[in-house]
Amino acid sequence: AGEVVERPSSVVKELIENSLDAGASQIELEIERGGVALIRVRDNGAGIHPDDIPLALSRHATSKINSFEDLTAVASLGFRGEALPSIGSVARLKVTSRYINESQGWQFAVNGGDADVEPSPAAHPQGTTVEVRELFYNTPARRKFLKAERTEFNHLEDVVRRIGLSRFDVGITLKHDQKLLHQWRAAVDADAEGRRRRVAAICGKAFIENSLEIEFEAAGMKLWGWVGLPTFSRGQADLQYFYVNGRMVKDKVIAHAVRKAYQDVMYHGRHAAFVLYLDLAASEVDVNVHPTKSEVRFRESRMVHDFLFSALYRSLADVRPGDEVATISSESIQPSMPSSIQSAPQPATTQFAPSRNYGSAAPLPARNQQAFSLGVREQLSVYDRLHVAAESPADSTTTEGTEAPPLGFALAQLQGIYILAQNVQGLVLVDMHAAHERVTYERMKQSWAEEGIRSQPLLVPETLVVTSREVRLADEHAALLQELGFELGAMGPETLLIRAVPALLRHADVKALVQDMLADLNVAGESSRVRERCNEILATMACHGSVRASRQLTVAEMNALLRDMERTERAGQCNHGRPTWVQLSMDDLDRLFLRGR
Ligand code: ADP
Ligand code: MG
Repeated sequence: AGEVVERPSSVVKELIENSLDAGASQIELEIERGGVALIRVRDNGAGIHPDDIPLALSRHATSKINSFEDLTAVASLGFRGEALPSIGSVARLKVTSRYINESQGWQFAVNGGDADVEPSPAAHPQGTTVEVRELFYNTPARRKFLKAERTEFNHLEDVVRRIGLSRFDVGITLKHDQKLLHQWRAAVDADAEGRRRRVAAICGKAFIENSLEIEFEAAGMKLWGWVGLPTFSRGQADLQYFYVNGRMVKDKVIAHAVRKAYQDVMYHGRHAAFVLYLDLAASEVDVNVHPTKSEVRFRESRMVHDFLFSALYRSLADVRPGDEVATISSESIQPSMPSSIQSAPQPATTQFAPSRNYGSAAPLPARNQQAFSLGVREQLSVYDRLHVAAESPADSTTTEGTEAPPLGFALAQLQGIYILAQNVQGLVLVDMHAAHERVTYERMKQSWAEEGIRSQPLLVPETLVVTSREVRLADEHAALLQELGFELGAMGPETLLIRAVPALLRHADVKALVQDMLADLNVAGESSRVRERCNEILATMACHGSVRASRQLTVAEMNALLRDMERTERAGQCNHGRPTWVQLSMDDLDRLFLRGR
């Protein structure tokens, strides 16, 4: 019994969907102890007719399928008719309701399947309140599977967030342990500003300020919503919402189209942020492939894919920072060099034209212009110059030594990306960013294992606007963050104060760094598991502390990096598994020029 009831979040999902089906325009949620102690959902929908109460509590009874068309279009969210009975069988359930135009309200209770189905009169405004207490009180085995209250609440909040983004027209409030966490006002279709406000409340102000509002229509399909700028990329895929006909889905076709559209404007290993809505005829999509309905099947999946890809690609095209990635292909080692020299990258100063509109899109919100004038590469970080300088003395002794260092000596920097060096065998090519990232990562791992990561207070603390969830994460993981060299404090419900960062990363973009750390923590989940994933967190940190391509380095800095690489374990590979350097021997070079044949 109770397949739909897995944990508090699944109860909340079913209850909110019932409220939406009943036409509610206001839904209030009160949660206690992560939903384990209490879930109360109150709505102002049509209510339940007293005669329907026994029906509502019997399995496979649903009032929602009136015709065969209903079955194919599945217009309502629930249609299985088993949520309430399932919940009633594993918790103490109480439903209070007043049906539209009735003068009297009703209340009935179910305790673990023992329905006390004599409804008694009760006072209630039009609408329904469903109260679920002591979830799994009668099934201890399942109760054991529940995670910490905090974790359960996070899942539950995710569900509310997803629904919040799918129904702008419904006001939603969420209280946890008596504390009001969210209060999202309803915004009608015409209220673009109201919708934007909700997206900002759910995804953060930074997202809305760093995203494009888009709207495309073609072939009976409409795609609209917000796509994050490539510069607003995330360390985790934790800000990706995609709705098909109002239902949040995870789908391979969609994921592929999105990834491809962002592909050459985003760093490897980074994730796009988006809130997108695809609307198409109900007959074009089958939402029933998966019992929890988070998967879909498109009748014309190729067409949907191409529509999504081209809409997103065109949206992002205007903010592309010079065609850097594409022009620097590995083919340039081939003798056909001149052609790739011609297409040398333009400086990354592509300016976004704010006046440009997409399709019939609403006017674009004011945005951070700076984000558009910087290329992806410069955005993220700067070289830890002092660090390299400090290591330099050691390097001069090596230089004077009789033995030539394995990676040789730097000659020049190519296109701000590669270091050219000469060693005994011939030419060494180093991917600056990849190499420095590897060096930083190994160094952080080592100091983490030894004395812990040294922290350095910021002269001027930085404030960072985040979500309330992220403020809680920072608080929850304060001890670990401190070991990692961070000192964060809550400044408000959605603001963090960054007081100290790891000394190794003091020159990084600390805001972007902390943002990515929080995303990692969020994905890692429970505190106990966070430690197991520390290497991933350190890798994220290293990425921020590393020199980015297109930073000019002096010959001394380049040599220092080469010496660091020699000293660092596994320096032949960066954290993402790419090689950090290649050797082209004199023989290889001779072959390129058809010498000695
Ligand atoms: P389903 O939603 O699949 O019909 P449920 O078990 O979730 O099945 O709900 C059973 C029935 O109870 C619904 O069909 C509906 O008639 C009634 N119901 C449940 N919650 C509400 C609500 N919040 N407002 C009005 N009616 C409700
Ligand atoms: Mg239902």
